[in-house]
Amino acid sequence: MLDILRSIKRKVLTEGFAETVYLFLKEIEKEDRVFKHPDNEFLVNLNFDLELGFGTTFWEGNIAKSLSYGKTSRKNLIPFLRYFSEEKIPANIQIAGALLDPEASNLSIFNDEQRKAMFEHRDLFKLTDDDIELLKIPSIETGLHGFSHRHFTNISDTDAEYEIKSGVTKFQKHFQRNPEFMAFPKNCVAHTDIIQKYGIKSWRADSQHPNGELEVPLGHWFSPGVLGREDLKHALKTIKEKKKGFLLQLWGHFTEMDARTFRELVGVIKESGWKLTTIKDFKKY
Ligand SMILES: [Zn+2]
Repeated sequence: MLDILRSIKRKVLTEGFAETVYLFLKEIEKEDRVFKHPDNEFLVNLNFDLELGFGTTFWEGNIAKSLSYGKTSRKNLIPFLRYFSEEKIPANIQIAGALLDPEASNLSIFNDEQRKAMFEHRDLFKLTDDDIELLKIPSIETGLHGFSHRHFTNISDTDAEYEIKSGVTKFQKHFQRNPEFMAFPKNCVAHTDIIQKYGIKSWRADSQHPNGELEVPLGHWFSPGVLGREDLKHALKTIKEKKKGFLLQLWGHFTEMDARTFRELVGVIKESGWKLTTIKDFKKY
């Protein structure tokens, strides 16, 4: 009975969508600012932030929760990468630079408790050489997710410069090239003049209608809890009916679902007639 009532309420208030999807579709109906969606093309960018144990709850004192996110991410990472590689799936993955730095636990920003956790769970705070080799899949554009996952809106110019410089340096060392796409930790976009100085050419915006042309509209959180199979199908169909063309960024982590569920949702995207792209291929930088 409760389920029926809930489903009636959902139909009346949000036209059958989960609320976040409904609000998202309402928002993108508004006029765009500077971002140019493609004409006659419907593109999805699958986009992942990779921080393993460097989650935001970690900094706020909930170390156990952060470790648990880290473990889920660690468990899902390789099956996702194998899938990307075998099926040549285009996607973006942004790495927190500290995962590439074996000395990161010595940073002064960590307290004793955090250092202890990092020491005891080393595999949740660094990428192995095998991980890094797998991340070099040709269909994937790897980029940067800051260095130590600090929120750029809360830090000074000097700290922002430190974060981006350290991140870019570690990235170059392991990937032999410059990262060009960035996702700000927690989507807290700030200090964009500084990141451009270090070669970042585009980043995920914090809204659907960014002011600057280097930003990619936020899109939707890719979590089956808020964007399940039916909602995804329905949303893709609705966008196609309302727009001439569209780039939809679906972003998340390796914690929201396992590779099997992800594979099914990618199937929904393809069946709906949408193509997959990296940001680099879309923006041609
Ligand atoms: Zn993050």
